[in-house]
Amino acid sequence: MSGTHTMTVTADSASTELVAINPATLEEIGRVPAINPDGVPGAVARARAEATDWQARTVRQRGTALLAARRYLLDHLDAIAQVITLDNGKPLVEAVAAELYPVADLLYYYAHHTANLLAAEHPSTGLARLLFRTSRLEYQPLGVVGVIAPWNYPFSIAAGTVAMALAAGNTVLLKGSEHTPLVSEQIAAMFRAAHLPDGVFTLLQGNGTVGEALCRAGVDKIFFTGSTRTGRRVMAVCAERPMPCSLELGGKDAMIVRADADLELASSGAVWGAFTNAGQCCASVERVYVDARVADDFIRRVVEKTNRLRQGLGVQPDTDLGPLTTAFQLETVERQVEDARARGATIGTGGKRNARFPGYFYAPTVLTGVDHTFLVMREETFGPLLPIMAYASDDEVVRLANDSPYGLTASVWSRDRAAAELLARRIHAGTVVINDCLYTHALCATPWGGRGESGFGRTHGRLGLLEMVQPFHLHTNTRPGPKDVWWYPYHQALYALMRRFAHRLTGSWWQRLLNLPLLIKSARVKKL
Ligand code: NDP
Repeated sequence: MSGTHTMTVTADSASTELVAINPATLEEIGRVPAINPDGVPGAVARARAEATDWQARTVRQRGTALLAARRYLLDHLDAIAQVITLDNGKPLVEAVAAELYPVADLLYYYAHHTANLLAAEHPSTGLARLLFRTSRLEYQPLGVVGVIAPWNYPFSIAAGTVAMALAAGNTVLLKGSEHTPLVSEQIAAMFRAAHLPDGVFTLLQGNGTVGEALCRAGVDKIFFTGSTRTGRRVMAVCAERPMPCSLELGGKDAMIVRADADLELASSGAVWGAFTNAGQCCASVERVYVDARVADDFIRRVVEKTNRLRQGLGVQPDTDLGPLTTAFQLETVERQVEDARARGATIGTGGKRNARFPGYFYAPTVLTGVDHTFLVMREETFGPLLPIMAYASDDEVVRLANDSPYGLTASVWSRDRAAAELLARRIHAGTVVINDCLYTHALCATPWGGRGESGFGRTHGRLGLLEMVQPFHLHTNTRPGPKDVWWYPYHQALYALMRRFAHRLTGSWWQRLLNLPLLIKSARVKKL
């Protein structure tokens, strides 16, 4: 099967273009000009030239730009949703609920809260305070940052990261995915409406070679969201300078259904969590572990609800499930189902392409009789597969849930909140959700990110904003006097004094006060 999007090199010049294909119909829906990798350093230089002016703007002025972008988004919401659906395949409801609503919320939030979230701090200087030393911690913009984004949530991940980086005072270059180039153009239009000076935000249309060129072009940090495979390459390139990067990578998220769960709720949650966006979410429900005592009941409900899903063209408002976005995702899904079939799994429903449509449609599929030797339980699927395993005890389910190199999100379903929280804390993941799943990336103020092969660094919330700034510590001796006691010249008396400092002046405050005379004695030593 050929790739879904091709980069065409035109004959007359070095320019290139990306061809956008509707994954539901396989029809071409547009072309956009793309940049060659060797054009990237020039774009970074323009962003660098603009960085000082953008940093000099107040947080409030930058917030005003975000609000203008938000106004554009809301005014053009229906049109942008259409483009997302045509380019990516997801149903219109999801285009609004999971891509546009969260960004509108995020733009408002960071327009209003960035100043507080990045307010200067005054960390304690401990004993040095008695020597008239003060500290101030400020958060300065990094300068120029690169954002490399995937195709599964081509609007929300890309635009959200760009908006936060701008709010923090950086100039930004975005490399969207070649598989959703029309959506990237919508992001560019939105930020154009914010009247940003040239170079403050730059869209780089292109394939992975453009992403790699961005990593090599001298930006100050890379924010990468994508596969673990590419994340490793990005990090290797960053290591050469070295340059920091934030990696939001793949997932294999576990859902744990306890015997005391509301099975009606949990089965609906499993079906949505596994099949929304055709399962192409880093936080999709990719493995379900259900208490053996309720497994039959739970599986019956899941299969019934999956059978009721309406798969079709995303542009029709009552479609629940669209196509996969790319041919290679369809291939991954087919490979995992064939592996499961060959190993004797039971296919409760689905298990084949949906041949009613020309595009990359795969029927939502429920698999039982699986274990951790199956590909579908080990490798990220990123498609509409829902494998279910029964478990016998808390210890067993914790072992199973943690038996994965990934650790992005997970969910626990139970009517016993205390028991669910206990279980949740034993799961290796960046976020564990109780009685819900998947959706927390849409919350702009709570941290998002994983551990293990799901990457590191956080987006969203204060932790996310702190990834986009450089901590700057300003330390001042407000009453410069004679030299510090620990300065030259060294001698035996100073050694003895420092020993006593270590023993007596590093404990509780009352202990330090009692030993204050030591400080006074130190003044005498200074004169030595
Ligand atoms: P890829 O890793 O294939 O691509 C991600 C981005 O990196 C794309 O823009 C891609 O360009 C670009 N890229 C490709 N090669 C390079 C390179 N050598 N150097 C720099 N950039 C490069 O991921 P997908 O787009 O296929 O996205 C799916 C993956 O993303 C899944 O594993 C999913 O779990 C993960 N993901 C993680 C999220 C999280 O928050 N943790 C959220 C969403 C997705 P191009 O597409 O043009 O090739």
